Amino acid sequence: MRIIFCWDDGALQDQKLFALHEKYELPGMFFVPTSNREGREVLTPAMIRQARSPWVAFGGHTHSHVYLTQIPAEQIEPEISANQNYLQEVLGEPIAHFCLPGGKYKREMLPLLYRYFRTVRTADTMCFRNRGPLYRPALHFYPRGVKSLLGNALRNHSFPEARLVWARRREPYFTLLRELLQYEEPRNDAMVMIWGHSWEIEELQLWEELEALFALCSTRYRSCCIPYDAIDAAGGPAAL
Ligand SMILES: [Zn+2]
Repeated sequence: MRIIFCWDDGALQDQKLFALHEKYELPGMFFVPTSNREGREVLTPAMIRQARSPWVAFGGHTHSHVYLTQIPAEQIEPEISANQNYLQEVLGEPIAHFCLPGGKYKREMLPLLYRYFRTVRTADTMCFRNRGPLYRPALHFYPRGVKSLLGNALRNHSFPEARLVWARRREPYFTLLRELLQYEEPRNDAMVMIWGHSWEIEELQLWEELEALFALCSTRYRSCCIPYDAIDAAGGPAAL
C-alpha cells in the first residue's frame, strides 16, 4: 500500500494542515487556485512561500476555481496556465501536478491538461487501484454516507472494498476509513490517496479526528506515506 495526502482549494485553514504535516512528518500536497470565485479566501503568496517544506508541496487548481466543464473550451487553457504561472512565480519551482475543480472534466480536455502537468487528479473517492488516465482518490476526509461510498466503489471497480463497506455499514465513517487502510495494507498495488478540504474540516470540527489519523499514519503506516511527486512510482495511470 502507498498513502498520499492531498488537500484542495487553498483555504486559509490549510495553515492548520501545514502544521500537522510538519508535526507528524508526513508529506502533503496542496492544490491551490489563484483565487476562488466561490468567495472563499485563499492563501496569499507569502503564506504559500512560508509553508513550502520537505513535507508541504503545491499543485495547480485553476486560476478562479471554475469547473472546467462549465466554461467555453477556449477558456480552459488560460485558467490552468495563469494559475500554473502564478504558483511557479511564487515558489520559483515547476508546478507539475493538477487537480480538477469539483473533479469535473471531459475526456477530450486531457491532452491539453497533460501538456501543462505531469499528473491530473479527480475529486473521486473509493478508487484504490488507479485505472487511468487520471489519478482518482480513495478516501475523502469527510463523513460520506454508505450509499455514496458504495456507488463510488462500484463505479471504480473497488469490489472487495464495497463488500467491506457493506459489512461495516453501521460503523462511524472514520472507523470505516481506518478499516479500509488496514485492508489495503498488505496489497502492493493499492494506492490510497486521502484528500479533503481544510474548510470542511473546520466546518465539521474534524481536526481531532484528522490528528488521530496522522498519528496512526506516522507510526503504523510511516513507510507507506509517500510524497505526491513519487506518485508515478506508486503505480500510475495508463497512458492517454
Ligand atoms: Zn476545489
